[in-house]
Amino acid sequence: MDGPTDSEKEKQDTALRARACALLEGGVLPRSKAARSWGGRGSGLPCALCGNAIAESGPEIELEFDGTASSPSLRFHLQCHSLWETLRRRTDEPDWIAIETRLPPFDTVVEARLSLSGSRSVILGIVRVRGRAGASEWLNATTNSALPASWRPLEWRQPAGIEPSVAEAAPKRA
Ligand SMILES: [Zn+2]
Repeated sequence: MDGPTDSEKEKQDTALRARACALLEGGVLPRSKAARSWGGRGSGLPCALCGNAIAESGPEIELEFDGTASSPSLRFHLQCHSLWETLRRRTDEPDWIAIETRLPPFDTVVEARLSLSGSRSVILGIVRVRGRAGASEWLNATTNSALPASWRPLEWRQPAGIEPSVAEAAPKRA
């Protein structure tokens, strides 16, 4: 077989992710949103995440932060930048709660990780509603229709910035 196999690619991704986490924890990479960002052609300078040169043949994202005089700008490969974005944001988001630990409140849209067939999973907005005989049923929050029986919620969290169910408690201010 030529080129990296899937498991080698996965290993590289895991290593890069671990490096990104370490850099974020060590404060080398900021968690704050960039004040300014530019996209352009690679400068040949090292990427702030992986440390490899950003080739001129590929795209580069350059970020500028306020109040960090020591490191006025950071350069990333496109994919390194999106990894940093994902990981830095993760910290301001609430933790996932396992379904076995605690069920989400009724009639409230939550973000859930669902197990599909086999090892696949998906993150989706869902609502827990009271079904027949008081059992929980799950609705797709976007389509308002029941989830396929084979889609099993594994864990959930309240999307950041959304108040717990106010649908019934508060009068509508329409
Ligand atoms: Zn990189």
